[in-house]
This record gives sequence, structure tokens and C-alpha cells, in this order.
Amino acid sequence: MNGYFITGTDTDAGKTSITAALLRALLNKGESALAIKPVQTGCTQTKSGLQAPDAAVYAEFAAPYFPHGYPDVCCRKFIPACSPHLAAEWNDETLDVDQLTREVQAMAQGRSTVLVEGAGGVAVPLAAGCTTLDLMQRLDLPVIIVVGNKLGAVNHALLSIEAVRNRGLRVAGVIMTHTTAPAKADMPLLRDNTKTIAREGHVPVLADIPFLDGPDYGKSLVQYADKALALLQQQKDDCPEDILFDRKHIWHPYTSATNPLPTVKVRSAHGVRLVLEDGRELLDGMASWWCAIHGYAHPNLDAAAHAQLGRMSHVMFGGLTHDPAIRLCRTLREMSPNGLEHVFLADSGSVSVEAAIKMALQYMQASGQTARTKLFTVQGGYHGDTCGAMSVCDPTNGMHHLFSGLLPKQIFAPRPACAFHQPFDTRSLDQTARILEANSHEIAAIIVEPIVQGAGGMWFYHPQYLQGLRHLADKHGILLILDEIATGFGRTGKLFACEWSGIVPDIMCVGKALTGGYMTLAATLASENVAHTISRDGGVFMHGPTFMGNPLACAVANASLDLLRTTDWETNVHNIESWLDQSLAPCRDLPDVTDVRVLGAIGVVEMKDEVNMANLQEFFVEKEVWLRPFGKLIYIMPPYIMSREEIFQLAGAVHEAIRTNQHR
Ligand SMILES: *Cc1c(COP(=O)(O)O)cnc(C)c1O
Repeated sequence: MNGYFITGTDTDAGKTSITAALLRALLNKGESALAIKPVQTGCTQTKSGLQAPDAAVYAEFAAPYFPHGYPDVCCRKFIPACSPHLAAEWNDETLDVDQLTREVQAMAQGRSTVLVEGAGGVAVPLAAGCTTLDLMQRLDLPVIIVVGNKLGAVNHALLSIEAVRNRGLRVAGVIMTHTTAPAKADMPLLRDNTKTIAREGHVPVLADIPFLDGPDYGKSLVQYADKALALLQQQKDDCPEDILFDRKHIWHPYTSATNPLPTVKVRSAHGVRLVLEDGRELLDGMASWWCAIHGYAHPNLDAAAHAQLGRMSHVMFGGLTHDPAIRLCRTLREMSPNGLEHVFLADSGSVSVEAAIKMALQYMQASGQTARTKLFTVQGGYHGDTCGAMSVCDPTNGMHHLFSGLLPKQIFAPRPACAFHQPFDTRSLDQTARILEANSHEIAAIIVEPIVQGAGGMWFYHPQYLQGLRHLADKHGILLILDEIATGFGRTGKLFACEWSGIVPDIMCVGKALTGGYMTLAATLASENVAHTISRDGGVFMHGPTFMGNPLACAVANASLDLLRTTDWETNVHNIESWLDQSLAPCRDLPDVTDVRVLGAIGVVEMKDEVNMANLQEFFVEKEVWLRPFGKLIYIMPPYIMSREEIFQLAGAVHEAIRTNQHR
């Protein structure tokens, strides 16, 4: 959709005439333009239905171009002349922003430019919990603000500009109007209004229109509109070479610099959808790699970021502390399994794993067990891409052999063989126990992902296996590190995956969903024993990233955890689990599929062979879903707010892709 959203500083700013004049100016240029009024209040009842006053003005200005009459461009019409939320309420209706957005998009089909006129100012309510700003954000058009030039105009205009920009929207400019003839004595003040708004709001003035009267009123207005359009045309920043630049100069994850896989350009995201540059919306089945559990652009998280931004984005954590970090660490201590008393804030998952490994080594040093410098883990794991973390990733499937010269040699047991949904086979621990026993004198810690091995193969193993590891660690005086970076905060159906086994680790890493996917933040939690041993005899923990405890990230994490604690995520994840189970079941019958498994809000289809990622990605984008397979795996891990219908849409796309051999 191409065009502008036109809003005003208040109801009487004159935006309807401006919209109509811009419409006429566009039509005069040969454009297939349309002015749309999503919600019209103050309608009059006539024999042929409700008469919309604003649409009547559009019709009058655009008359020569619509010989058969101007189309009905109002999604909702109401008789009371008041705020849309109230008019709707009096009519026993509720306005729905998503619905309005879809209807406007449908009307815009085939039009080169649309002008969407709001009702009153930007904060005018449409329904409980949503205002015109929400509609503007969903439509994602540049915004023209019509400013009634009078006493108070600067305040109204600057507040509107700020509110619009806070939603990530571009203010294309302001249009200054006079709806009544100003007194001569006021003229200097009104002229200054225009200058001040342009300077303080950093916006172009597209037109500064004097009070117009008389028979040529409409014609003059269109002339002003025409000049405004010329200014708007200059701003167009179409940059088709962006994708080319991206391809030539930007490294994406695990990608060649010279022969990269294609990338898809995203303009914005909301709820469970990613909006592409061309306006198409993809249903997001990845939650941006486990992170966006509440969906995108959640109002609580947005508000938390804005509020913190107003105070401070960052201060060093050495010698300083602040409320966002204190509150976050308090919450993490409360939420996490009992016994994890000390919180170290890190700036990414990998860094939190490095911190965990260093804690384990410092613990052994401090307790005089200096030979214990190695880590014990299982194959098929993934713990991040920094060097310490890489040393405990699966040694073959991560291409980490490239770095074998640099990485410390750790001790590996086979992948936990016993699947989550199978009866437990005690023998699956035998070899693990043997290897651990043989090397226990040099092992500082066991490190594993609890229950779900993520990027190393999306494998779900049995809770009793994890209990076995806890037991072995205790038996040999070794620490247990659980990497809950992917599994933490509800993904597997428990708040933390280790709850499936009823065990508590000595050290635990969290990250990914911690900020609801807004920005990078992670934490390493340690037991009192670990923390106190390291700190014995004046010992200090030797780590301290520059952006440790970043207040902005902590503030958003606080909002995300508050949301988690006040919404019924457990029911949502449980529902998603059963929908994934049902919707992915048909994939079992496809010949190239070897396994379909579901746990919590994770659905996995494992194929016989490595899939053609580029092919599949293109197919999925065509089907308007976002899934990013890797290796032999096509998997779904949606935001927790996804509906049954949407889960079935994702699973349907997966089934169709495999059925039509897009994976080959
Ligand atoms: C993603 C992930 C990491 C690494 O986190 P980053 O934030 O990417 O550094 C570590 N462990 C697990 C289990 C993960 O899924």
C-alpha cells in the first residue's frame, strides 16, 4: 500500500478538505488515487443509507474523475458525532484495528496512492485499549499532520509529532490551516507557530494555507495541495539497491560473503506477523529464534522501552547499580528453581555460557581441585558461538572442527538416546556414567541443554536422563550447568525445562526470550555454594562486559517477565502443543519424513536428508509464512500468542512444501 495517513491536531483542523484537495491534485496528475475514511462518525440517515459527511467532501473535489459517483470508502459509519469508540459503543459495536486494517488494504488494492483520513487527533480512542495511533501503526503509512493554526497549535502539533514518531512512523510533514479568519493582531503569532513547529518538530511544512473563502476556495486549496505533493515527491527514498548492498557487503548468520543465500527485507512486525518491504505479511513460525514469545510490538514492552529511554539507556555496571537491574535480578531469583541465589547479567547467550564455564573453573580452583579444568557434555548440543561455548557444541555438526586448534578438548558422551515420549531405558545412561567416571578427576562441570537440544538437532530426551546427570554430578563432586537459553520461560511447557526432571542445577544460563525478543540480554544464575566458594578468601568472579546490566534491556526484560507472570502462558503453550500435534501429524505419512515430534511450543519435522533451505524459504514466503529450516529439520516455534488457525496455516505450509518436494 502506497500513500499517506492524514491526521489532525484536533477535530477542527480542516483535514477533510486537505485530504480532498490532495486527492484531487493526485487525480489531476493521472494517479489512480483514493481517499479513505475508515471510521466516520456524525453521519446522517437518508433514504439510501447513512450519509458520510467527509466522503461527501471527497466526492465533491474528485467529481470529474468519478462520473458514476464516489465509492463508499468508509469501513464503519455512525450517526453520533463523537469519538469513534463511543459512537461504536452506543451502536453495540466494537471497532477492531486488525479488521479495519484489512478493509483499508482491500480498498487500496489496485490504487497507486491512498489517503487514509483518521478521526480527530492521533490519541482518539477506537476501542478499549486502542487509539488511532494503533491503526496508523498497523497501516504503516507516512503521516501528514494537519495543524489548525491558532493559539496552542505548537503544543498540539509537537505532541502529535512525538506520538507518531514513537510508533516508528515517519512524519512526512505538516500542513498549516486556518478554519476561521484570524484577527489581524494575531498574525505575527500565527506566523511564528509555523516556524516554531518546523524547527522544534524537525518537520517540513508542506503548505501554510491562509484562511480561504469565497467561490474559488476549492481551486486555491488544490493549488496548495499540488505544491505539497511536489515536496512529498522529493522525499521519496526508494532504494532498490539496498538488497544488492546487503548481498554484497553484509554478513548474515552462517553465510558466505560471496555467494550468500537470499534475504527477505522486513519493514516492521506486529503480533505474530512480519511485514515485508512490499507490504506482504508473513505469519512468523520462528519467534525470531525462540525469542519473541509475546509477539512483536507488544504495547507493554514498547512502553517499557520508551519509559526507560526517557531516563537512561545505559550506564556502566562497575560501581553503579539501578532499578531495572535490581528488579530483574529479584524476579529471576524468584522465578528460577530454588537455590539459585546469585545473578550475573550478561549481554548474550554465548557470553552467559562463557560466564558459566568460568564460574565452574573458578569454583574448582577456589576449592583446591586445580586438576578439574574440563567440561563434560553430550553430543548434539549447542551452547553458542564464542570459543568456550563452541568447545561444548556438537563436535561434528557445527563445523567447529574448523577451530579445533584453538578450542580446549572437552569430554563427550553420546547424545541422550532415550526420547522424551518413550519409557525410560536406564541403559541410556550407562555409557555416560562410564565416560564420566573414567575422567571425573579432570572434570569441573557437566554442561547440557535440559530436555531439548535445540540448534544441535531439535531433539527431546527423557527427563530421567537429566536426573541421572544430576545424580552423577553429585556423586563425583562435579557441578551441573544447565543451558536454559532456548528452553527457559515456558517454551517446553514448563517455566524452565529442568522442572520436567524436578532437579536444580548449580549454574543456569537464561537468555533469548528474556527480553521477549526485543534486544540482547542473558543471565547466569549460580547457587550459593558456587558463588560463595568463588568468593572465598577475597576471590572475585573474573568477568564484566561493557554493557553488563544494560538498563534498557533490563527494563524490557522486566516488562516481558511481568507479562509472562500475568498471562496464562501455560495454557497457551499447552494449546499450541496439541495444535502442533494435530496439524503436523499428516507429515508422518510423507515418504521423505523420518520423524515428527512436538514438545510444548516446539514442532519438528525431521527429514531423511538435508533440506534445500533456499528453495523452502522461497516457497514459504510465497505462502506468506516465515519458517527457516536447517539441516534435516523443518521446525515451528511460534510466539505463545498464536491461534489454532495460524498454527494450522504454518503446519499446512510445511506439509505442502514436503508433499510438492520443495525440500529437494
Ligand atoms: C542460542 C543459544 C545460545 C547462544 O545464545 P546467543 O544469544 O546467540 O549468544 C546458547 N545456548 C543455547 C541453548 C541456545 O539456544
